[in-house]
Amino acid sequence: MLSHRLPLSRSALERHAELRADPTLLEHLLKDPNTLVTVLRGDRVPVVRRRQSPGEVQDGGDGEPRLALLPPEEATRVLRRTDPQSSPIAAFLGRDADRRDHVLLAVPAAATDGGQPPQDTDLPVWTGLREVATGLDDLEIGLAVAATALAQWHASEGWCPACGGRSKIEQSGWTRRCTACGRDRYPRTDPAVIMTVLDERDRLLMGRQGSWAPGRYSLLAGFTEPGECLEDTVRREVHEEAGVRVGRVEYCASQPWPFPRSLMIGFRAWATSTEIRVDGEELHHADWWSRETLGADLRSGRLVLPPRLSIANALIGEWFGEPLPTAVR
Ligand SMILES: [Zn+2]
Repeated sequence: MLSHRLPLSRSALERHAELRADPTLLEHLLKDPNTLVTVLRGDRVPVVRRRQSPGEVQDGGDGEPRLALLPPEEATRVLRRTDPQSSPIAAFLGRDADRRDHVLLAVPAAATDGGQPPQDTDLPVWTGLREVATGLDDLEIGLAVAATALAQWHASEGWCPACGGRSKIEQSGWTRRCTACGRDRYPRTDPAVIMTVLDERDRLLMGRQGSWAPGRYSLLAGFTEPGECLEDTVRREVHEEAGVRVGRVEYCASQPWPFPRSLMIGFRAWATSTEIRVDGEELHHADWWSRETLGADLRSGRLVLPPRLSIANALIGEWFGEPLPTAVR
């Protein structure tokens, strides 16, 4: 299954949603020295470098990034150092294979705008999830993706959309309840489709936006509109952006994309027309690639594909059928 090989989909975290209703869960876990805390600042995840054995030391000794998971007392100490004025939100993230409980403490982005935290050597470095994701292991990625998505939802949901009242956290961080009217709000994710569109000669459709770096192309993609099924989103987006008609649509794989709250849902789709007419707004150019032309364009450096972190890269690779070639300089 392609989903479990996608960089942001390979979570090894068990969420244990059945434990969230216990109103004392977070208080109890934050007093337990065996709990591991993920401390987020805005959308930045805490990273330390993986220690290497002496034989492996290279490039000054920096190993792969590792998500910094701290005991509650140390997490609180770190937050007092970095964001002394803030009151972090807490959430129960789940349990790992060794039955250790994981908790999120997140400081909203607004509280971190005052500048960089002190860069003592014993503090983690806060960095964007995209920069480190492919180096994190399956537990770390499950924690980092859930933490990033949940923290950003909380940051945007302080007030009730029904009555304007203040909302407070319930269900161990997975619900916000309005203190005035009692209405509950749940974390949301926005579905977006992305598709390998193939013609009758098995050629692949890709397009580029005007703002992208020269040579950069990707699969067509777009958000699902209210009242629309995913298959129709695929057909609508391909026709709107490239003027190509699509018939059969098959699901492939999905990957969370918490920047800030998308779920990328990958499809394979078969075109019933081949003439391209780009909309000039979302797409400035689009074309069809055979496997031969795609391989040649990648080797020559004329074509640049989306990064390995993206589901687009995985879907293109799956169609290509072998590892994607890199540019020969
Ligand atoms: Zn309300």
